[in-house]
Amino acid sequence: MSKFYITTPLYYVNDSPHIGHAYTEVAADVLARSERLLGKDVFFLTGTDEHGQKIAAASSSLNLSPKELADRTAARFQKLWEKLNISYDRFLRTTEASHEKLVREVFDKIHQKGDLYLGTYKGSYCISCESYVPSSQLKENLCPDCGRKASFLEEPAYFFRLSKYQEFLLSYIRENPDFIGPKFREKEVTNFIRGGLTDLSITRAGCQWGILIKENFSIYVWFDALLNYLSGINYLSDAKLFERYWPPDVQFIGKDIIRFHDVIWPAILFSLSLPLPGRIFAHGWWVIGGEKISKSKGTVVSPEEIISEFGADSLRYFLLREVPFGLDGEYSSPVFLKRYNSDLANDLGNLLHRSLSLLETSFEGKIPSSCGSSDEKLKEKSLSLPGIIKSIEALKYNEALIKIWEIVGAANKYLDEKSPWRLSQKEAGPVLYNVGETLRLVALFLKPFLPETSKKIAQRLGIAGEFEEQNFREVKWGLLPPGRRIKKGEPIFPRKK
Ligand SMILES: [Zn+2]
Repeated sequence: MSKFYITTPLYYVNDSPHIGHAYTEVAADVLARSERLLGKDVFFLTGTDEHGQKIAAASSSLNLSPKELADRTAARFQKLWEKLNISYDRFLRTTEASHEKLVREVFDKIHQKGDLYLGTYKGSYCISCESYVPSSQLKENLCPDCGRKASFLEEPAYFFRLSKYQEFLLSYIRENPDFIGPKFREKEVTNFIRGGLTDLSITRAGCQWGILIKENFSIYVWFDALLNYLSGINYLSDAKLFERYWPPDVQFIGKDIIRFHDVIWPAILFSLSLPLPGRIFAHGWWVIGGEKISKSKGTVVSPEEIISEFGADSLRYFLLREVPFGLDGEYSSPVFLKRYNSDLANDLGNLLHRSLSLLETSFEGKIPSSCGSSDEKLKEKSLSLPGIIKSIEALKYNEALIKIWEIVGAANKYLDEKSPWRLSQKEAGPVLYNVGETLRLVALFLKPFLPETSKKIAQRLGIAGEFEEQNFREVKWGLLPPGRRIKKGEPIFPRKK
């Protein structure tokens, strides 16, 4: 059985989760579920990043200790992931003792290799980005990434010899064309590396809220956070688990943290003599009214509110259907509502509801026999659904959903054209069987995207038990058992105003 290791970035605990976080998490969850349905041995890691000066500042302004703030925010993330049905295997917090131990061990390992030296950091630091800003990149004392005021820093620090890996990084990226995704990001990264890499300070002397090492140095929060991908599968403490899953097959990141993941992270791994991840993919941002989602700008949409009104699957669907993964998307309530009513309530919900109603009124609520069925076109279309697995693996989620909805559309059209309500019982039976079986296959391929909905469709078709076992490895037509009792129920996606 082949393995599949997926990671999300660890979310910083200075802020509550918003739809941007939900986006990354849902995208990773869809891939994890899909790979499991293909029979792979999947490990899906997520968690929270809890150290750093920004957390220390945020907690003191709330009259909390940094750990109290971290506990509170980590719990919020966990609760939201539960509501969104995120199937992670491990939720890692960087304040866990095992992670802290690993970070100290990696520090020593890199030190022994000769990749660390003691020096003095003299330059600027952006607390908001938790990043060192070389004076050449400062724009009138402002951070080039977030535009906030950077503070001047002069402190002793341990430096990681990042500059040593410049040529290695360039040749690795050249030889591994899938390493950086989407493809258009590659140039941005290689230009940055060609501009010259400077050694990276990986300790802070002025920040106590971090993993403390000798002589009162704490580990720089980004170095600490990146190592979560190693400690998540017990690097240096459980060789069996680590060897089973390393390296990551896909790592999801936001486009704002590309440099940390495409430059610093591979250099650390190279220093540790570890194989590099297969793919590091940066998705776009959700913007509201043209602005990046941020608490200070008041552009925050609460995922909890959307879930309580529309259900978790509606949010999962919208996030992945609305924009190609990798590009930016604009969130607005009217756009969400339109998408919900047209695709979920109208196309999918209505197809299920009217099929079940016809079965209830004309077939005593039972799946009819498929005998005499001659409609090869709908069958052929439905059996093309496994084609979407390629789209999912290429992280083209919207393409996969569009394809599923083409089948939903074809089934609705088929039902309209055949008009089984005008046919004799004998002629109507196979028509409804074909639509029911199409619905079963649609539900099967919705398993990774809309886990609650796909289960509900199976329950309504009366096949909840066997459906649980159905996966992507063997996709067949005709598994819907004639004679099975259906359950009509209320529409699964009621229309909303
Ligand atoms: Zn900044």
